[in-house]
Amino acid sequence: MQNIDNFNFAGKKAIVRVDFNVPLDENGKITDDTRIRGALPTLKKILADGGALIIMSHMGKPKGKVNPKMSLGQIADAVAEKLGAPVQFAPDCAKAADAAAALKPGEVLLLENLRFYPEEEGKPVGIEKTDPAYDEAKKEMKARQKEFAKTLASYADVYVNDAFGTAHRKHASTAVIADYFDADSKMLGYLMEKEVKAVDNILSNIKRPFTAIMGGSKVSTKIGIIENLMDKVDNLILCGGMTYTFAKAQGGNVGKSICEEDKLQLALDIIAKAKAKGVNLVLGTDCVAADDFSNDAHTQIVPANNIPDGWEGLDAGPETRKAFADAIRGAKTILWNGPAGVFEFDNFTAGSRAIADAIVEATANGAFSLVGGGDSVACVNKFGVADKVSYVSTGGGALLEAIEGKVLPGVAAIKGE
Ligand code: AMP
Repeated sequence: MQNIDNFNFAGKKAIVRVDFNVPLDENGKITDDTRIRGALPTLKKILADGGALIIMSHMGKPKGKVNPKMSLGQIADAVAEKLGAPVQFAPDCAKAADAAAALKPGEVLLLENLRFYPEEEGKPVGIEKTDPAYDEAKKEMKARQKEFAKTLASYADVYVNDAFGTAHRKHASTAVIADYFDADSKMLGYLMEKEVKAVDNILSNIKRPFTAIMGGSKVSTKIGIIENLMDKVDNLILCGGMTYTFAKAQGGNVGKSICEEDKLQLALDIIAKAKAKGVNLVLGTDCVAADDFSNDAHTQIVPANNIPDGWEGLDAGPETRKAFADAIRGAKTILWNGPAGVFEFDNFTAGSRAIADAIVEATANGAFSLVGGGDSVACVNKFGVADKVSYVSTGGGALLEAIEGKVLPGVAAIKGE
């Protein structure tokens, strides 16, 4: 496989898939530029070598239609500033051949949002999966996706994928495009390389004890990874909104807490499985219950399985926080995905903060800690500890799928698998 560090981009045009899906405020200003900063080493290397740069990304979910609110034109100046080079903007990503052809070494062209075209995702639009004509529509869209990918590929001599956040998607710009470059002319970017290595560290180089912390709102979206981790971890902390599905499944009262009624048996299965495999499953025992889903709600500490009617658990209680910290502090490998409470409200951050603090402590004592998924990354940023954990991943879904052991299409396409 071609390696970016060894490659000389001099005189070449490189098309780079990045993840510039950055959050914007109502005035189109970037509120968190982590993703742009993440791609800079790759982009700067290409320019420093004397290559020309064509940058492509998606932003938001425009569902195959032009939507000015999701235009990448809004961030062109910010990209130019961070890159230290002027950035030209191509307002139609599929009609940028002339602009790309005119690029000289050291010049930069940013393409408009790829997802303004349904071909990027390759899913048929305006037709339900249940429609008898769906399969035909899908086939037709896949053919169009190939053409779209071919057009993008025609702009450049080299393809670089540095968008880990979308590496689990088989989209035109993340995977299909790689077919139009030979093995020597496609490669992973620095960010992708780092991400793949961090996952590898977790999967193949486990130092024990291994503690995984899975939080967030629902069991259903995390079940794949929970089941997979069960074979690998010593301690498994399940926290956040899932706490109440587990409490209810075991006969508890959870008031109006978030609870997946159709996942109660699944929760019991997870408990049984952990027992059978000798995994120390750590669930919340007490919680901070609130009388309203708001930062200013009244609160009380109650058992997680005995929440009064009309109240809901929004954060881990003090006993739980201590149990979580104990399972983290002694660990040598740590994976954290998903908050332990509604951390967006300042009054319900204690659980997530206790987790973050314990991870920082363990890391200082030599543990390898990987934090990934939008919300846990937001947590470590909020608590100012992002530089005190071993690795903060830019990937949410991609990270989880990689840890589940799935081959990421974005990586496989480069490797030619
Ligand atoms: P997810 O997208 O599944 O990773 O979930 C992240 C979201 O879970 C965050 O927005 C949190 O506010 C939310 N969350 C965490 N704990 C709770 C809880 N106890 N009740 C409701 N939402 C929660």
